[in-house]
Amino acid sequence: MNVLVINCGSSSLKFQLINSDSEAVLAKGLCERIGIDGRLTYQPAGGEKAVTDKAMPTHTEAIQFVIDALTDAQTGVVKSLDEINAVGHRVVHGGENFSKSVVVTEEVKKAIEECNDLAPLHNPANLIGIAACESLMPGTPQVVVFDTAFHQTMPEKAYMYGLPYEYYDKYKVRRYGFHGTSHSFVSKRVAEFLGKPYDATKTIVCHLGNGSSICAVMNGKSVDTSMGLTPLEGLVMGTRSGDIDPAIMEFIAKKENLDIAGIMNVLNKKSGVEGLSGVSSDFRDLDAAAKEGNARAALALEVFAYKVAKYVGSYAAAMNGVDNIVFTAGIGENDGAMRVKICSYLEFLGIKIDEEANGKRGEEIVISTPDSKVTVLVIPTNEELAIARETVALL
Ligand code: AMP
Repeated sequence: MNVLVINCGSSSLKFQLINSDSEAVLAKGLCERIGIDGRLTYQPAGGEKAVTDKAMPTHTEAIQFVIDALTDAQTGVVKSLDEINAVGHRVVHGGENFSKSVVVTEEVKKAIEECNDLAPLHNPANLIGIAACESLMPGTPQVVVFDTAFHQTMPEKAYMYGLPYEYYDKYKVRRYGFHGTSHSFVSKRVAEFLGKPYDATKTIVCHLGNGSSICAVMNGKSVDTSMGLTPLEGLVMGTRSGDIDPAIMEFIAKKENLDIAGIMNVLNKKSGVEGLSGVSSDFRDLDAAAKEGNARAALALEVFAYKVAKYVGSYAAAMNGVDNIVFTAGIGENDGAMRVKICSYLEFLGIKIDEEANGKRGEEIVISTPDSKVTVLVIPTNEELAIARETVALL
């Protein structure tokens, strides 16, 4: 079965065509600048990457170009649309309406729309992607996989904020968590990789990328995670502040003469390690700057590591212990020095890192020593494959 996995943003659309039997990526690419001008990047497996400018007023044209590329006589990977058996969509916010992936129906679309307020930048774009696929591929089953669904097992004590209860009753203000597809995929893979039962292990997943979150997975269920109502809560990220004293918002608003939109812009786009360092949100740039003696870049890296370690410590407490700590995503998979920095705060858990294993890249690997009390691993995440698997499982 061939599954087209689609991840729609407001002006972009990432795609992969995955054969679910071999789990091979047949082709992948990206449509950018939708609604502005339009650019398609397309790469068939083993082939050249091609970038073409194409007018994409809406997501419908973008998806049509994706279909054209996939079925192209020269560079395509399937003969016709009939060979695309299903579409799996990543949807950011399912609110409390969805605790699992579902097949798209009219009710499902309505329930996703109900969550638009909770993810105003993402959910409407996801719905547009679904509608575009429905119009261009009628009859092809579509599945939605939610970033929030895996965390719906969190207990009340973990998801309620210390706010008036009526805000939960009236507006569903609570913690939801994100990156659920990645946390679920990686935590399952850890258990498989170590040959341990998924439903009897305590794993902390550190998804450290441009957006970062941590998840406590106890006996196969998310019991806590660092992102909240929105992906702004939790760790210090590339450009997002993560947790701050909420009173800072009023203080800075007055000092800088900013309204709420201005403040949100600062917290989402001008903060994090970029705001702290004044250098970049990319950890490669920060590493290089810190090595050249830039004190603020070094500080940003230390603040990031310290915050990750504090969350790991608190999740060990939340689960009354931890068997495995796993690093994934751009920073988690590639930045060995950051992993060591984080783990240096966690020696009280009996963690010992094997420097040689930690130096290897691009593979699933245990990076702790055999006598370490907690197993520390690197497991590359693969959200697209997880979405393809979910899609097939549901159909
Ligand atoms: P992601 O959001 O998972 O794609 O992660 C992207 C981030 O990973 C980038 O912004 C970088 O900060 C980080 N990253 C990627 N490669 C490396 C690397 N080799 N060393 C350090 N950080 C990296």
